[in-house]
Amino acid sequence: MFVVSFLALIAYIAHFVAVDSKNVITNAHNRRLQSMAEKVVRGKIISSDGKVLAQTLTENGSEIRDYPYGRMFAHVVGYNDKGKSGLESVCNFDLLKSDANLMTQITSSLKGEKSIGDNVYTTLNTKVQKAAYYALQGQKGAVVAMDPETGKIYAMVSKPDYRPAYVKENWTELNTSKNSLLLNRATQGLYPPGSTFKVVTALEYMREHKNTYKNFKYHCTGYTTVGTLKIHCYGGEAHGTVNLEQAIEKSCNCAFVHMSEEINKGKLASLAGDLMYNSKVPINLLANSSRFVLDKKSGTNEMAHTSIGQGQTLITPLENAMVMSAIANDGVVMQPYLVENVKNIDGGVIKETKASKLSEPLEASECETLKKMLRKVVTKGTGTRAYSSHYNVYGKTGSAEYNSAKDSHAWFIGCAERGGKKIVVSVLVEGGDSGGRVAAPIADKVFHAFLD
Ligand SMILES: [Zn+2]
Repeated sequence: MFVVSFLALIAYIAHFVAVDSKNVITNAHNRRLQSMAEKVVRGKIISSDGKVLAQTLTENGSEIRDYPYGRMFAHVVGYNDKGKSGLESVCNFDLLKSDANLMTQITSSLKGEKSIGDNVYTTLNTKVQKAAYYALQGQKGAVVAMDPETGKIYAMVSKPDYRPAYVKENWTELNTSKNSLLLNRATQGLYPPGSTFKVVTALEYMREHKNTYKNFKYHCTGYTTVGTLKIHCYGGEAHGTVNLEQAIEKSCNCAFVHMSEEINKGKLASLAGDLMYNSKVPINLLANSSRFVLDKKSGTNEMAHTSIGQGQTLITPLENAMVMSAIANDGVVMQPYLVENVKNIDGGVIKETKASKLSEPLEASECETLKKMLRKVVTKGTGTRAYSSHYNVYGKTGSAEYNSAKDSHAWFIGCAERGGKKIVVSVLVEGGDSGGRVAAPIADKVFHAFLD
């Protein structure tokens, strides 16, 4: 009798593991998903430093989804109530699938217990995430930190945030708040790139003036007129005579606007395209595509605005991190990713992500030139608040105007490296005004957390 039921049980479990789980995977809305949740305890989501970011606990006989870090990972790890978001959504099938060895599953079944779901091991680092989270404080915005050489995302913070364990209780507020609490600003927030775009404009100018760009000179008086526009440097500051390197270092709008008069619009558009503007973001999270609308037919005003990251250009903090990653990784853009691997309860690896190259938009020699210029931004230009004597840092600030009152979002994109360790950080603070004063110190804290 025992043998018969035992064999039947094996057959049943084998069927469930092999067939049912496959069916569930092919249809997200399959009713079997519910039946899977009834048979399997949802797996854990774990950080790269071994900390639990999400787990299922049993409280008073019923299961609850617990987030030990509360709000800190809200958008990237997501929620699992009233629908799903973030990794809870992307990794739903992995978490609900149990690849525990057959004996473990049979033992659970005989005891009338659920199988234990597979665990998702992420690339997220709690130390880096914590630094980014606290550095942003109560400001609205986002921070993305990644490894330019592999594409691993170390941190992804979006604010304002919410408590993922209480989504059901707070559902109405979450969906009606003007602050778009559920929006992952790191991947879905579209902002004018402001002066961070000068990296792209400078590169295109150098490409088109290979032998003469070092002779570029402009005398800045704090404002200039182009087409029908009057363009000011930040705060109306007069930068005096600047070459290309100094124009980047001081973030001189006037110099860039005049540089743009000697740039081919179509080629600038094509470089922006190579840097993945207007492309679908290759990440497994809800994400918006950055926008670049300039083309050969655009007028002088549009070109002038575009060259300094204003106009109609929009980018997400994630994509701006990828632009800096291209420079930091000798011109190669790696596929960004969040899941290192999926393991069963016994620690066996079920699947894992291999780092993969996405594109190669820049030459290594161009990256060397840009790095030297961006280094000056941090040692003596607008980005000195991201400087450290402990490691090598380079980057670009941005103060991107977003309304007619000239209110600005604050940006900093940069890379810090020491002893073979590299980290790229993209910071955006909504209404933060000055990139150098507000965004660079946030990147500084994230660099320290990773490299110290
Ligand atoms: Zn200037």
